[in-house]
Amino acid sequence: MSEEGESSAVPRPRRPNLSSPPAPPAEAPVPVEGRPEPDLPGARPRRATVPTLLDFFPAEDEKLTELHPFFDHLKAGRFTTTRCRKDGELLWPPRAVCPRCHRSELDWVDLPMRGRIYAHSAVLAGAPLGMEADVPFSVGLVDLEGAPLRLFGRIEGRPWKELAIGQLVRVEPYGLPDGRVFYRFRVEETLAPVGR
Ligand SMILES: [Zn+2]
Repeated sequence: MSEEGESSAVPRPRRPNLSSPPAPPAEAPVPVEGRPEPDLPGARPRRATVPTLLDFFPAEDEKLTELHPFFDHLKAGRFTTTRCRKDGELLWPPRAVCPRCHRSELDWVDLPMRGRIYAHSAVLAGAPLGMEADVPFSVGLVDLEGAPLRLFGRIEGRPWKELAIGQLVRVEPYGLPDGRVFYRFRVEETLAPVGR
């Protein structure tokens, strides 16, 4: 048998039949003997109540993340991250464990609330889940003033075509309808961009 014949004998992955009708909705699960009923301890919940992978924003509840102080601080108007107590490394994003020394003795420290635009762009199509109605909007990298951090985020306060490199922005908490909070940058209207 030739090499060609051998290779053609390898079973090909089946392609989905696109012309077939969609499968009917699944019936309600039939209780199986020995398995716990839904919603009992140890059972799989019927409906997920935590954010999923398609959710652009992270879980913030203290039951779900050790990094909940970041969000608690943000709600109180503070912009914070973690610093390793042993090697002093300022970590971004906030961490539960230092990636350098693998210790979990970390301190929460305040970050500057202002920075300058290092680079910017705009989302004109294909926005992440929940941001479709905001298009067009600006995103960019911001160098925090007085901290060695260059952070990504949305930039508000000015049309995307009017943003400039070097422009001053401030960090502001942004509340989500479900009660979570995240941060965005907002252009400081009173200060002109740095000439380059
Ligand atoms: Zn460390």
